[in-house]
Amino acid sequence: MTAFDTFVIVDWSARAAPSPRKPSKDAIWCGIVRDGTTTCTYHRTRADAYLELTTLFDTELAAGRRVLAGFDFPFAYPTGFAKAVSGSHDPLALWVALHSRIEDADDNTNNRFDVARDLNALFAGVGPFWGCPASVSDAVLPAKGTLRHGHNLPERRRVEGQNGMGRAQPCWKLYTTGSVGSQALLGIPRLQALREKYGDHLAVAPFQNIGTPLVITEVFPSLIADIVSDQMEPDEIKDRAQVRVLATALSRLDPGTLTEMLQTGDPVEGWVLGVGHEAVLRAAATVAPFAPPLRNDCFALPPGVHWTPVDEALGLLQHRLTPVVATQTQPLNATLGRITARAVTALRSNPPLPNTAVDGYGFAGGRGPGPHRLPLVEGRAAAGDAPVDVPAGHAIRVLTGAALPQGVDTVILQEDVTLEEGHIHFNGPLKQGANSRRAGEDVHASDEILPAGRRITPADLALLAATGVSELAVHTPLRVGVLSTGDELVEAGDTAVAGQIYDANRPLLLGLIERFGHHAIDLGRCPDDRGTLRARLDAAAGRVDAIITSGGASAGDEDHVSALLQDAGAMSLWRIAIKPGRPLALGMWQGVPVFGLPGNPVAAMVCTLIFARPALSLLAGGTFAAPQGFDVPAAFSKTKKAGRREYLRARIRDGRVEAFASEGSGRISGLSWAEGLVELSEPARTIAPGDMVRFIPYGSFGI
Ligand code: AMP
Ligand code: MG
Repeated sequence: MTAFDTFVIVDWSARAAPSPRKPSKDAIWCGIVRDGTTTCTYHRTRADAYLELTTLFDTELAAGRRVLAGFDFPFAYPTGFAKAVSGSHDPLALWVALHSRIEDADDNTNNRFDVARDLNALFAGVGPFWGCPASVSDAVLPAKGTLRHGHNLPERRRVEGQNGMGRAQPCWKLYTTGSVGSQALLGIPRLQALREKYGDHLAVAPFQNIGTPLVITEVFPSLIADIVSDQMEPDEIKDRAQVRVLATALSRLDPGTLTEMLQTGDPVEGWVLGVGHEAVLRAAATVAPFAPPLRNDCFALPPGVHWTPVDEALGLLQHRLTPVVATQTQPLNATLGRITARAVTALRSNPPLPNTAVDGYGFAGGRGPGPHRLPLVEGRAAAGDAPVDVPAGHAIRVLTGAALPQGVDTVILQEDVTLEEGHIHFNGPLKQGANSRRAGEDVHASDEILPAGRRITPADLALLAATGVSELAVHTPLRVGVLSTGDELVEAGDTAVAGQIYDANRPLLLGLIERFGHHAIDLGRCPDDRGTLRARLDAAAGRVDAIITSGGASAGDEDHVSALLQDAGAMSLWRIAIKPGRPLALGMWQGVPVFGLPGNPVAAMVCTLIFARPALSLLAGGTFAAPQGFDVPAAFSKTKKAGRREYLRARIRDGRVEAFASEGSGRISGLSWAEGLVELSEPARTIAPGDMVRFIPYGSFGI
């Protein structure tokens, strides 16, 4: 499942007349996040909002962009209502029924009270709907909730009983503050109209499978009311701030979490997006401002250099690049694979108290050689028990993991003990502290447990949890766009005519980026045409933190990537003394770093592993760590010239490293055959079988 490209939050209104011309609170507000930019729109009528939304959806869908739209009114009712109205528990069948009953004119005049009265008539007693002007109320549609009785429907949906939903009004209430009931009666028919218009392209979460270009779902901005008020701009209308902050928060969620949220819910009563995932949603809403941008000259090379040695090139990158991603506080369980933004310290020692490492008997002090006999106290200490007092000269039964009772510092294994009449017998010697673990012997509270820039591993999660850390500051994932350039390229699966080749670099690079732990964004293919390429880079600059292109990076007629970056005045052609490799075009496009890689797949992969990987790591807030290699006897012969550093596609078999038979830089099969690279340093060298060479497994690059 891919991420969404566009996020829309709609604050709906049940007004019976158009809202004021001047943007005000009692109206429809939409917050839209697209290409990293948030806009807010104001609508005086539901008809106007519907028109604007469909125009937006049409544009986005036509451009192949996925849209998530959230509306702030109930998408379903308490169990029993849909069944009574439509004959089915399916909330979407109810949508059809409401759509056929509600009339809602372009000027907001509508028949919601009449419809509510008709619906109430389907139930015994009075209700469930209530609330209307005195002139409209009657025995079937009461003005007050207390006048209802006997309709037999629950007052609230399951989701409304969850954390954070305390402020939600019941969906039966049609009038005055938070007239949620009227919003739903006038909103659901518009959503049904969307369903009819977009057919299979639209899904309603959580009721339907969300693999569609357009997904709509229920939201409740009050879930993050406190964060919204923190982030309100001066004089901003609250409804506007709500849709703005919530849409921005959703756009920052990682796709997996968002998918999980959209799939959470009740098939009959519906759900509110984010309920059950409050911590992640709140963290996304409170994300700190973005890091300062890179300088436009960050890729400039010292003048007069022709062939830059690899280490020097790496040194320049390491020196110039800084994180470009934001920082956010995330709950522990959302941090796997994220990069720490600050060093993390232990909040609690591990172990927090001295405890026993074995099942046995605990007492104070070591014992000399020979037989010993100690009286046993009543009871025992098991894991989770609070420590009790054990008098001097006594022993107590202890089980693995139990905190040592007061007065106990030494434990003897149960296998080494005989029990008799309330005593234990054993033979010494036994050292003081035997079979026990000291408090903090692993980690002390306030020790630094993880440095800043650490990509969190499963083992780190264990360490964080054990030391009492339940949330931490991490960087937002680095978004890396991947673009292939070349007139000759066609998409795998399409028909290739003579002269065309399949685009191999894009799947390669997207895969590498994902494995590096970043968020890979497919920017597609682009012909060798400067105008088109410029437009593609412009569009990409708003939605990604870095761009990797392949092809067109040299200085030839069709090398448009380097030409454009050159025109933008922020490009350097890095001629690095590396094989395989061609010049790299490193530059800035509208503040976004661009890595222009050579088109040859082998050179593209090697340059990505050697240069782009550490550079992207720094941009993502991580470290500039060199891949770890080791020396292995060669299973091949080779004569290497002096000057360039060389990388061979290689793998280990039977303790020796084999090199791929051909060094041709178009040989993609060799990349796939290999399981790592042999690195040969700059000097000339003759390698015979058995000579030691440095092997760097793909795993050391994280792929
Ligand atoms: P370039 O760097 O654009 O001069 O391309 C160098 C070589 O790499 C040419 O043979 C291209 O056809 C090939 N090439 C460029 N891009 C790709 C790609 N995305 N997939 C496979 N081969 C490519
Ligand atoms: Mg090309």
